[in-house]
Amino acid sequence: MVRQMRSHDVAHRPGVAKLLHCPRCGLSVAPRVHWLAIKHCPRCLARRHLAVELVPREPPAREPARSAFG
Ligand SMILES: [Zn+2]
Repeated sequence: MVRQMRSHDVAHRPGVAKLLHCPRCGLSVAPRVHWLAIKHCPRCLARRHLAVELVPREPPAREPARSAFG
């Protein structure tokens, strides 16, 4: 049996862990998987009962110079 998978739902995303950053308190969250990513800052929710939306923060574009391309 071949299990049907909806390829349309699965976007081809690079396996880069996106950092989520809270502009309010400065909390940085690095979710391991994208579907586990939280939308609001847990710290602001707990302390101030504010639903502060986390903004994606891309890691610094520092790629290692040592690449095995050759
Ligand atoms: Zn926060």
